[in-house]
Amino acid sequence: MSNRRDANGISFLRFAYTVPGRVLDNQKAVYGGRDKGRDGLTNLALIRRKSRRIIAASFATAACLSGITLFSPSAQASTEPGLVGKRIVIDAGHGGRDGGAESADGRKEKDTTLAVANDLAALLRQSGAQVYLTRDTDTDLTQPSDLGHRQHASLRARTVYTKEKRPDVFISIHCNGSPSPTWRGAHVIYRDGNEEAKALATVMQENFRAYLLPTKRTIDDTSTLYLLRRIEGPAVLAEIGFMTNPQESAAMQTPAYRQRVAFVMYKSVVEYFGQVENSKDEPTAALP
Ligand SMILES: [Zn+2]
Repeated sequence: MSNRRDANGISFLRFAYTVPGRVLDNQKAVYGGRDKGRDGLTNLALIRRKSRRIIAASFATAACLSGITLFSPSAQASTEPGLVGKRIVIDAGHGGRDGGAESADGRKEKDTTLAVANDLAALLRQSGAQVYLTRDTDTDLTQPSDLGHRQHASLRARTVYTKEKRPDVFISIHCNGSPSPTWRGAHVIYRDGNEEAKALATVMQENFRAYLLPTKRTIDDTSTLYLLRRIEGPAVLAEIGFMTNPQESAAMQTPAYRQRVAFVMYKSVVEYFGQVENSKDEPTAALP
């Protein structure tokens, strides 16, 4: 681990996290070879240049991407103009009796989604957003009387909660599972025909491809997912990796990688709101 300052005097911590049998660093693995020849510190500066609006939260950039200290007591939390007052609902998939997908060593999806949701909520809140979590503990949101149809009841409860909050953005966080351990890659799902959701999904998928474990996956549309069918506006479901893929599962068990996932989502939300603002500035018709 090393600590250096960039040209603006902002301290970046080089990160490394381990998965069984190897060490991944921000040069070889997380950037998927896109920025070969640059060192990790340059890459981190690149992220900042690409999204200047995030500079206000640059201490979080350094901390999250370093995966070392997310919330240093000495760090000055700064608001992000594009996020102030924005209402954001984060849904940590599964919970309670519903563990979701499972890794070969018995890790449950519900724990990963909750950890990422809490990290994402913290980042958004410290930047001025109004954040609501469908759950912040290990629960499935059902009542004892829901026995027998718990899964449906849980989804219904999440929908009711989300609609009550009238969110500007809704993100449901999940991990994938498959019969084959070779399946891998984070991807974002939106409802077919929902253009706002597609815009958010597109930004998030680009960032997943750039900053998470390597994937060539693209956004997926759907017309069947319960939550996405019922929640209007920029509502997406992010599958952040496969519990059944040994490398992704191992990474998702580390706080460093989970914080990275949360930061990449945070960055995507900031960029999405930036796009919305920019589109307002554009003239709607040429003058005669
Ligand atoms: Zn799930």
